[in-house]
Amino acid sequence: VVALAALLSTACKSDKKPEGEAGAPAAPAAKKIALLLPESKTSRYESHDRPIFERKVKELCPECQVIYSNADQDAAKQQNQAEAALTNGASVLVLDPVDSASASAIVARAKQSKVQVISYDRLVVNSDVDYYISFDNQKVGQLQAQALVDKLKADGKTSGTLVMINGSPTDNNAKLFKAGAHSVIDGSGFTVGAEYDTPDWSPDKAQQQMEQAVTRLGKSEIIGVYAANDGTAGGAIAAMKAAGVNPLPPVTGQDAELAAIQRIVAGEQFMTVYKAIKPEAETAAELAVTLVRGQKPDASKINGQVNNNKKDVPSILLAPVAVNRENVKSTVMADGFWTSEQVCSGA
Ligand code: BGC
Repeated sequence: VVALAALLSTACKSDKKPEGEAGAPAAPAAKKIALLLPESKTSRYESHDRPIFERKVKELCPECQVIYSNADQDAAKQQNQAEAALTNGASVLVLDPVDSASASAIVARAKQSKVQVISYDRLVVNSDVDYYISFDNQKVGQLQAQALVDKLKADGKTSGTLVMINGSPTDNNAKLFKAGAHSVIDGSGFTVGAEYDTPDWSPDKAQQQMEQAVTRLGKSEIIGVYAANDGTAGGAIAAMKAAGVNPLPPVTGQDAELAAIQRIVAGEQFMTVYKAIKPEAETAAELAVTLVRGQKPDASKINGQVNNNKKDVPSILLAPVAVNRENVKSTVMADGFWTSEQVCSGA
């Protein structure tokens, strides 16, 4: 394997010789795949999605080049990054949209250039996207809320006030998480005393929202917090600690971020949702390579259709897993998502 890798990298180096150099055949044009990610405050994108995607593309297609950009939660910036990638010769876009609605303009622009688009993790609604790869996102919201309700009941509670901190209103996933969570919380006996959407999924804004909720509802009234991801959970926990909420009520999350796993082990956050990013990013890489080579994807991998208000998009949906202190070892750590050294370095 090492020898093969060395051979491939030598082959790549020789590809880079200037075209027309005496005696050398003209280098084949690189096949370009754009990976457009939405933000960098949530750690998954730089710690997992990007490196896993790039590694897989390189492994499957040494002649391929990944054009990477991160939009820092700015939809207009993402539009420019997509334009730049198309101008630069990208022939497949893997797009995780900042704004699930306005990104339809990116898809339309790509289609003009006959470039196929894979909607990655977040669905681009009202658009002619070719494929969608994600998790069952409604299920994510259900798992979060079910874990919270079960915990409260296990602690002997049947009623009381919850706070809900949802994700970004421009992210289609956030709508699904919220709907999934409400399907469990509404009618559970618990009352939502304050509910917020969090612009840009910003942990700082989540912190401010939680400060407001504590002031409004009173610090001993809140018996549980639904936070849509680990970043917002971190903000909510920081706000409660600063306000002197003690003991902290159970708080949900999502992403199995290292900081959240450390909080779970330390007993500060109740749960998170582990979404195995490796199969998500690798599947996207395989599909992108298939498309960039002009081949047809393996139909057996497509396990669903998701309607985006324009069409039924052929989809690959993976299963999320609820993680708490009890199963953190058998899930996140057993999968190698984080090693015990990484987790314990926060202790
Ligand atoms: C992703 C989450 C992420 C959030 C914030 C969602 O669309 O599915 O994993 O925490 O965006 O970036």
